[in-house]
Amino acid sequence: MAAVGDPIGADVGRGGAEGYAADWARAVRRLGFVPLSAAETERLLLAHTVRLAQAVRTEPFTARPAEEVGRALVEAHLTEPRALEWSLRALGTDFPRRVLAADGWPADLTERIAAVQGGLAAGYARALRDRTFAQQERIARSAWQARDEVEQALRDSEARFRAVFTGAAIGIGIAGVDGQIIDVNQAFADMLGYSIEELCRINVAALFHADDAAGMWELYQQLIEGKQDAARVEKRYHRKDGSVVWTDLAVSLIRHDDGRPRFTVAMIEDITERYELQQRLRFQALHDPLTGLPNRTLFFETLGRVLDAAAAADRRVGVCFLDLDGFKAINDSLGHDLGDRLLVMIGRRLAECVADHGHLVARMGGDEFVILVDGGEDAVAVAKTALAAVAAPVHVGDQQLAVSASVGIVECPVAETSASELMKAADTTLYWAKAAGRGRWAVYDPERSARDMARAALVAGLPAALERGEFVLHYQPIVSLLEGRMLAVEALVRWKHPELGLIGPDRFIGLAEETGLIVGLGEWVLRTACRDAERWWREFPDARLVVSVNLAARQADDPAIVDTVADALATSGLPEELLQLELTESAVMGSAGEPLRSLHRLADLGVRLAVDDFGTGYSNLAYLRRLPIHCLKLAGPFVEGIRADGTDVAADHRDERIVDALVRLAHALELWVTAEAVETGVQAERLRALRCDTGQGRYFGAPSPAETITARLRGGAA
Ligand code: C2E
Ligand code: MG
Ligand code: MG
Repeated sequence: MAAVGDPIGADVGRGGAEGYAADWARAVRRLGFVPLSAAETERLLLAHTVRLAQAVRTEPFTARPAEEVGRALVEAHLTEPRALEWSLRALGTDFPRRVLAADGWPADLTERIAAVQGGLAAGYARALRDRTFAQQERIARSAWQARDEVEQALRDSEARFRAVFTGAAIGIGIAGVDGQIIDVNQAFADMLGYSIEELCRINVAALFHADDAAGMWELYQQLIEGKQDAARVEKRYHRKDGSVVWTDLAVSLIRHDDGRPRFTVAMIEDITERYELQQRLRFQALHDPLTGLPNRTLFFETLGRVLDAAAAADRRVGVCFLDLDGFKAINDSLGHDLGDRLLVMIGRRLAECVADHGHLVARMGGDEFVILVDGGEDAVAVAKTALAAVAAPVHVGDQQLAVSASVGIVECPVAETSASELMKAADTTLYWAKAAGRGRWAVYDPERSARDMARAALVAGLPAALERGEFVLHYQPIVSLLEGRMLAVEALVRWKHPELGLIGPDRFIGLAEETGLIVGLGEWVLRTACRDAERWWREFPDARLVVSVNLAARQADDPAIVDTVADALATSGLPEELLQLELTESAVMGSAGEPLRSLHRLADLGVRLAVDDFGTGYSNLAYLRRLPIHCLKLAGPFVEGIRADGTDVAADHRDERIVDALVRLAHALELWVTAEAVETGVQAERLRALRCDTGQGRYFGAPSPAETITARLRGGAA
């Protein structure tokens, strides 16, 4: 095969070949796309023209060079069919005439030209076919390669999934929408304590837990119905061995291409430890560390639920608020260790005694416990049970203690109260129970509470009232039963309230005593009474009128009382023997249960001392003998028993005999006796017959302003 640019044989007309090649190149370029420049095309086709010319003339003749030219045309991408057609036709027509010198024509030129045309066409066709094959093969190869790559990617992805699936610490399970488990990983099986094979035989429904969060299986149902794509809950499973594992469960739905639900994929994480820690923390937050009982937080949570329950509208709720009596003294004398052990024991007893009824027992703090009586059971019965449980002797260490408690009970319809109202009422009622003595229970009484509150409101205004001078003293005569002369007057305080009018001491003295306000008020009473009495003494010295002033226990107990009394006497100038102080039996005995120390010092001042309301307390008569007392005031009820009209003989006689005995006793102790609350002349007459010394009461004159006494003294003098 002659390369392009080979010398052309001398017998080939060069000028002819070049012209022919130039025309050929033009035609080829005109008829189709040629990826060569014009000059390159022409040079290439000139070489082929020369080769074809040589082929025609070479002996022996063969058409092979023509085939090669045909192939070369294809290889040069001159494959436009119309260009081939042109090439073949030109070979049969112009070629011999223009390229082959006429003298060099072989004899069989026509056959040879035909063979050259055939050879070129065959070479062309073969080359074209080869190229097509090659192309197809390339395409096929690429196609195969591409498919391999996709498959590889799939295999990779599958392998990655498998690696994650089998190696994951998270349990993964796949189930059909019928709930049948299709596959689970080892972690899933381990978490539930089954083998993979066992799990693949069961239905997820078998893993339902009776205590699963409400709504959880509805959620699952929605998922498999395709109404939802994912769900996440905390769920517990029973392991195969019966133990419980808590998990964080995330389920997602895999759909068919058309959207129909296909599988569910569940991923579970074992959160048992975290859950148990949470539970522990929650327990700690809601329980008292000492007794293990629910604490006030849990109590209020539970109470809130009871009160909120919509269905509870006509239900009743009860609360027993219990406080140990004298726990502080136990704690102080036995030590906090024993105190704590006592609380633990009491807590346990309380919990046990109501356990059967399902009532909640909580420790509210200190020595306070509360029982929430749910379901309308008799709260008083519960309180009695609790008191009995507490009262059984307690052994702590080598000590045996007698413990008691007081209980405030509130019981009312759920709809009519709130947690804070209920507890406030329970607190008030507990206070009532305490005030009534040890080991008592009291039931809430709204009217009493309202009275208490009104009293408390009144007392709150007391200090300001004292400053504004809203208090006045009324005086009630104490009269000699023998001669009818007024020997003394009792000072009785009243409050001229700007809105409520004149208020008697029964409505404020008690609370003033509890709050300590009595000390200031009492001092005012004492000084005012001394001043008034001093005036009477100066104006009516012969009357020698004694003023009798009440001292509250709290005042009498105050060591400063002796100085206060001395100062009141000194400031007013009242002779000490014209002042009498009235103390109740309990005040005489003092707060420590011992006769009051300041009693002797008061007596030493030279003032008279009287025991007020004698017979209503628990005076120890043996003590009375040794105390510097001058007078006993017989309490009203004894006098009341001495009937004004003298009808009920039996009762009259009993009270008369008591009064008779008391008077004899008092006289044996060289004490005067004053009868209180004398309301009729008959009573006065009988009391005189019983040798009572003096009387006080409406019969002898009601408590009245100082001027009334002054007028009476004036009248008496006159
Ligand atoms: P008390 O010391 O026993 O005073 C006698 C009470 O009997 C007075 O009540 C008086 O008004 C009342 N009374 C008078 N005549 C009769 C009668 O014929 N029949 C009956 N049933 N009662 C009669 P008041 O003034 O309401 O005082 C009540 C109590 O308040 C006093 O009882 C006394 O314990 C206390 N109190 C009064 N003023 C003071 C005070 O200034 N200081 C202290 N600490 N207590 C006072
Ligand atoms: Mg009195
Ligand atoms: Mg009295």
